[in-house]
Amino acid sequence: MSDATIIDGKVFAAKLREKVTAVVSDLKEKHGLMPGLAVVLVGEDPASRVYVTSKAKQTVECGMESIEYRFGDDIDEKTLLDLIEQLNGDPKVNGILVQLPLPKLIDEQKILSTISPDKDVDGFHILNVGRLWTGGDALVPCTPFGCALMLKDFHGSLSGKNAIVIGRSNIVGKPMAALLLAESCTVTIAHSRTDDLAGKCREADIVVAAVGRPEMIKGDWIKPGATVIDVGINRVDAPEKGLKEDGTVKTKLVGDVEFASVVKVAGAITPVPGGVGPMTIACLLRNTVVAFTRQNGFDDPGI
Ligand code: NDP
Repeated sequence: MSDATIIDGKVFAAKLREKVTAVVSDLKEKHGLMPGLAVVLVGEDPASRVYVTSKAKQTVECGMESIEYRFGDDIDEKTLLDLIEQLNGDPKVNGILVQLPLPKLIDEQKILSTISPDKDVDGFHILNVGRLWTGGDALVPCTPFGCALMLKDFHGSLSGKNAIVIGRSNIVGKPMAALLLAESCTVTIAHSRTDDLAGKCREADIVVAAVGRPEMIKGDWIKPGATVIDVGINRVDAPEKGLKEDGTVKTKLVGDVEFASVVKVAGAITPVPGGVGPMTIACLLRNTVVAFTRQNGFDDPGI
């Protein structure tokens, strides 16, 4: 059996960004208005800083306005809530994203539920969660939305397929399950208490791994020909790459799927890096444009 087809997230993301750029340009021409995305970063987490910089850069590259707010760990909850209220009322801001995680003293749920559901481009507000599960016009969390776009593009119809989502977080696992259900898959949601996870995986035509455990899903867990979407991003030591200047071992990113064994069995697989990751920001840009058109009563851009 030949190796699985590699689903290239970088190519998908570039195509989606092109579509967003074209829609933004069209909206500017027709209405003289430009979508704006506000991103709020609290603290010094290096990964979060990288994400925020990348989000801002891509927002501008697509022709939209990026507004950034950066605060130290010592910001109090009230200041953050006031800022969100101000952004909720600002017509130039169409999307609001608060980069997670927030410092422990700040109530994350309170912050997220203060964001106007219409500007909630991360799709974490309870109203968008409800709309997603009930078939309404939700803004959908970016990572699972990107996975669903790639799956639909690859398969055409997902109807009737057995899908397993490993992980039940509010950010990835649960919305992923809702999206697959909406596509008429038969969905199993697995988690740390799931019995015989390998056996359940082997029944699935579609496996979405969102666990946060390096290379946990092995080749013999996979039904031959299944499609495997690896959401995991795990940094692990890579002694084969040698040492860094400071004498510590170099590292690399791996997914939740053991790529080397799974690629031999699956029909298609997303790599890490270069699979799901690039689609997440592209979907954020897409959500910002969609939020903008809804807020202004313009036609749905169909992206
Ligand atoms: P969470 O830690 O919030 O959730 C992990 C889930 O995995 C939980 O539901 C947990 O179960 C389940 N789990 C943990 N251990 C096992 C196990 N041994 N067997 C089965 N299930 C298990 O993580 P997230 O959902 O936020 O993220 C998951 C992964 O995706 C991470 O690697 C993260 O870095 C990555 N990620 C990637 C993104 C991207 O853009 N590519 C974006 C967001 C996340 P339980 O609920 O029982 O504890």
